[in-house]
Amino acid sequence: MSMKALITGASRGIGQAIAYKLAESGYHLVLTGRDAAELEKTKTACEQYGIKAEIIPADLSSEADIRALFEQAGEIDLLVNNAGFGIFDPIVDIKLEDWQAIHKVNVEGAFLCLREAMRSMKKSGGGRIINISSVVGVKGYPNQAAYGASKHALLGLTKTAIEEGKDDNIRVHAICPGGVATDMVKQSRPDLTDFSAMIQPEDVADAVLYLCSLPTQITVDCIHLRRAASAQTW
Ligand code: NAP
Repeated sequence: MSMKALITGASRGIGQAIAYKLAESGYHLVLTGRDAAELEKTKTACEQYGIKAEIIPADLSSEADIRALFEQAGEIDLLVNNAGFGIFDPIVDIKLEDWQAIHKVNVEGAFLCLREAMRSMKKSGGGRIINISSVVGVKGYPNQAAYGASKHALLGLTKTAIEEGKDDNIRVHAICPGGVATDMVKQSRPDLTDFSAMIQPEDVADAVLYLCSLPTQITVDCIHLRRAASAQTW
């Protein structure tokens, strides 16, 4: 029987690339985001692979939307907690409402999705959850305090979820990419202009597929994908 994956932020960028790779690998998909028209385009492209894809639009800053999303999605084998955004300012200029808006989606939204998925997977006998954090979840960058704090928080959530999930056969992982060639990087790193030298959304999708291929008795807590041009060891 086909595996079923729910991907947040599937309307463009990394989430869309993950949807394509999972569709190619035979997963049935639940695609979510706010932009139903863009999700429809992802769905149509995914269906070319002969899989079933369903769209459930949701704003991840709304707990009601997230509850409705998981109720409608039913049992899933894989959650890719990918949706996220940033507003990039030096600390002295960060508005509290911007800080809160970022954390509402990147931390609270991701937590609520993970909680709903863990509740359901506990009942169904297990599953896999992949949180898309960032290099900024590990390292500091100027103008990225609010976004970076949210991505550090997502890694913290991942670590506890790994421990709490292990006896229920729920495997939890994080992927921390450096600059990926999507709309977001134009805002986060306006100094980077050569998209060809960046990580491609498909590279992140390949890391998702690798994690999904792991046998249940082993796990990988975090994959760090770095641009070779900026590679550093921790
Ligand atoms: P993107 O192209 O801007 O896509 C962001 C996705 O998140 C969109 O599908 C968007 O969908 C969704 N989203 C944003 N706010 C949402 C909300 N309130 N409710 C529901 N969905 C929401 O960005 P990306 O580069 O693909 O980023 C995807 C993930 O990778 C993010 O978590 C980001 O932090 C992380 N990441 C990106 C980079 C990079 O350099 N690009 C590096 C490391 C990590 P709608 O607009 O349809 O709602």
